[in-house]
Amino acid sequence: MAMMEPIARPSPNPNPSILFLRASSSVRRISSVAASRFPFDRWRSRPRFRAAPPRSADASLPKSEHDVVVVGAGIIGLTIARQILVASDLSVAVVDAAVPCSGATGAGQGYIWMANKTLGSETWELAARSKQLWEKLSESIRDQGKDPAQVLGWKKTGSLLVGRTQEEMHMLKKRVKQLNESGLRAEYLSTSSLQLKEPALKIGKEGGAAFVPDDCQLDASQTVAFIEEGNKQFLSHGRYAEFYNDPALSLVSSASAQIVGIQTSKRNLYAKRAVVIAAGTWSGTLMQNLLVQPNILPNIPVMPRKGYLIVLENFNKLHLNHGVMEVGYMNHHRSTSGAVENYQSLPSISMTATLDVKGNLLLGNSRNSAFGSSRQFVGFNRELDESIVQQILDRAGQFFPALNALSLDIKIGKRIRIGHRPYMPDGKPVIGPVPGFPNLFLAAGHEGSGLSLALGTAEMVTNMITGDSRTIDHKPYSVEGRFC
Ligand SMILES: Cc1cc2nc3c(=O)[nH]c(=O)nc-3n(C[C@H](O)[C@H](O)[C@H](O)COP(=O)(O)OP(=O)(O)OC[C@H]3O[C@@H](n4cnc5c(N)ncnc54)[C@H](O)[C@@H]3O)c2cc1C
Repeated sequence: MAMMEPIARPSPNPNPSILFLRASSSVRRISSVAASRFPFDRWRSRPRFRAAPPRSADASLPKSEHDVVVVGAGIIGLTIARQILVASDLSVAVVDAAVPCSGATGAGQGYIWMANKTLGSETWELAARSKQLWEKLSESIRDQGKDPAQVLGWKKTGSLLVGRTQEEMHMLKKRVKQLNESGLRAEYLSTSSLQLKEPALKIGKEGGAAFVPDDCQLDASQTVAFIEEGNKQFLSHGRYAEFYNDPALSLVSSASAQIVGIQTSKRNLYAKRAVVIAAGTWSGTLMQNLLVQPNILPNIPVMPRKGYLIVLENFNKLHLNHGVMEVGYMNHHRSTSGAVENYQSLPSISMTATLDVKGNLLLGNSRNSAFGSSRQFVGFNRELDESIVQQILDRAGQFFPALNALSLDIKIGKRIRIGHRPYMPDGKPVIGPVPGFPNLFLAAGHEGSGLSLALGTAEMVTNMITGDSRTIDHKPYSVEGRFC
């Protein structure tokens, strides 16, 4: 029997009808994912937004005032809070329906990679900036005399994107060329060179890999603990507050119809400058339920995409020198029109493998919808499906045959993490202000790259709130033009 990791702490949304008190029929349509095609156009054609009618707070609840209130304590919400604290003199409150790491973040494998990002794609610049910021953070930890491996679970292993067919080899060579053109170190490895770098990996004579030596990985839980600890240092200055196990229920608006705070299950949190919704895959539903009147805020079509990660604890039977990902199932999920296909409940499995700093072997996932993985569209269901676990193991065994002979050790030693990646049908997160509500910001929909993109996202949101223009181009991520 597989053991569930303790990240199945209080579910952020154990019962949607409790947390989201005013679920509208349109919201139910989104999360049920029952349609055969993702109904993207319907949202586009929505009328522009009316101003929110004033909604006063429940005066019986305790209240506090902050400059910024962040909803969601996943990697995105917590890094936004951190960036605001270190880059400005504003105060921040973070609120979460459960506790940090209880969403997708707690299941993340930890790739901070460029190998699987595409030069020229809309997310390239954000990915590059974010990786640079992660590297700076690890360097600053080292400068303080600490070991980033101990603090963040940081490892600069380099990445191997591996393929086994002629077509994949062609694609990988092209990718190496593009990565080099962008200034990154990357090299194509034939089977024989790959064998020397990663002896446990067997991909056949035809195979090869793109090797990106500067790609890194981190441990999501360790990193979140570090960020939280840093944020808490501002507690004594009165600049930081956190409220967990306390879901945001509604927005509070002023007589002039501007957002002035949020009401949670236990309190009113006033925000002088901004409210940031960073609730991962719950952000779309939440946006529709924060105001009593439906359809005032845009519908953000973020969907929960279930992913599994198998953790083989202290696994010394197979050694990995690098992070490894197969470059299979390209375009499995997307048609050329961008419509999502087969998303109802069809899992797609691809191999990824990393060894973390504690010696655990992590198997299971990949980066985004262009790459297959153990992903399913099954709403917020967290149940363990052993057949998916077996498929992940079988797939890994095709690349690491040694695993096939170790099935008993695996059975005994494995733990499973399950998380819902915040999937966006157009493959990009949504980051920026909500049109008509200059104090309301969104930062969600990072799907399989939220850890990777977190620091760049945090910098972008902070710069928007503080009015700092030194930011990378945020247009690809804006709400306006995409959802209204
Ligand atoms: C198996 C797996 C492997 C992955 N591997 C990688 C990887 O290697 N590299 C990478 O970059 N990314 C990876 N990802 C993706 C990454 O984990 C996500 O993109 C990222 O964690 C999203 O962070 P988030 O903060 O937006 O959402 P979450 O972590 O889901 O956080 C959202 C938070 O909002 C809270 N919330 C919900 N509703 C409310 C409410 N009403 N009020 C208050 N709070 C609320 C929830 O409790 C939750 O804590 C992986 C994901 C999975 C599932």
